[in-house]
Amino acid sequence: MIKSNLHTHTTFCDGKNTPEDVVKEAIERGFDIIGFSAHAYTPTNSQWCLKKEREEAYAKEIIRLKEEYKDKIKILLGLELDYYSEVDTSQCDYTIGSVHYVYKNGKYYGIDSSPELFQKIIDEAFEGDVYAFIEEYYRLVGDVYNKTKCDIIGHFDLITKFNENGEFFDTQNPRYKKAAYSALESLLPENVPFEVNTGAISRGYRTEPYPAKDILQIIEKEKGRVIITSDSHQKETIDFYFDEAKLYAESTKVHIIDEI
Ligand SMILES: [Zn+2]
Ligand SMILES: [Zn+2]
Repeated sequence: MIKSNLHTHTTFCDGKNTPEDVVKEAIERGFDIIGFSAHAYTPTNSQWCLKKEREEAYAKEIIRLKEEYKDKIKILLGLELDYYSEVDTSQCDYTIGSVHYVYKNGKYYGIDSSPELFQKIIDEAFEGDVYAFIEEYYRLVGDVYNKTKCDIIGHFDLITKFNENGEFFDTQNPRYKKAAYSALESLLPENVPFEVNTGAISRGYRTEPYPAKDILQIIEKEKGRVIITSDSHQKETIDFYFDEAKLYAESTKVHIIDEI
């Protein structure tokens, strides 16, 4: 059994610790593989993304750590690409493809910032129709492999982040299901693994990982694969909720992989 986490953030983007601190923690916790997935630069130039001028330094530092710790742990250089990221990935060992924004009326709207901003997107960009927002989100998710050629699909149903108790919409609504399932239909033939991502649990927004169980069940049925990650932004959460996430995924009998 290999212990791995390919979704981690550091001080190169919006994480709290340096990559070297994360590597040391990972060794201490018995990891075999640790991957770094800084938020790639996006045209919105958000403060949580890797700055253009830091891209080279980031790659250099991860490659240095790879060499320095090669007897203790396998280190991978990755990037978490947003749907709208336009960056060079030639040095990367892998990438994660994630949708964090919808683009509407000439404006980028970050979908996972806060419940208040989530409501603002519904009102301002979708004239109060939350399902129109959801349809646009899943249209992008369904196209994320095509757009980024990523190796892992990031937090498939991130749009549910602030909706644990149905605050904004009903995941049983036919419009929700149709949007989510058609994104799955586009992605599953690509055979790219989906994350089972515990990030929103460690930050107190959810009690279950992404994606929801009915989505996992479809992935299982269509012979898709998943990989467990913690989307950690600090070294203490590099394996947060991993045992529970494994049981959660196993309960659907979906094929779980540890590396790519
Ligand atoms: Zn993300
Ligand atoms: Zn992330």
